[in-house]
Amino acid sequence: MKTTGICPKCGSDIIARVPGQQDETSIIVDWGGYLTSVPVARYVCCTCGYVESYVESPEDLVRIRRKFKLYTPRREAEIP
Ligand SMILES: [Zn+2]
Repeated sequence: MKTTGICPKCGSDIIARVPGQQDETSIIVDWGGYLTSVPVARYVCCTCGYVESYVESPEDLVRIRRKFKLYTPRREAEIP
């Protein structure tokens, strides 16, 4: 929905963008000090209610990449 403006579930183009905030929906990447959590923006289909979530800042994506282990189920499946 972020790229197309169209809901992939029902085809509606009535999409609301809910900006990310420093609240319980943000992702904690550090403790103490300022800006320790990464805001998550949400795109809501106002027809069927489907929701997509995005970290929108490239800097924040780097912080998450540093903080969390990568999810690699395919690579792990290839190990004999
Ligand atoms: Zn929809």
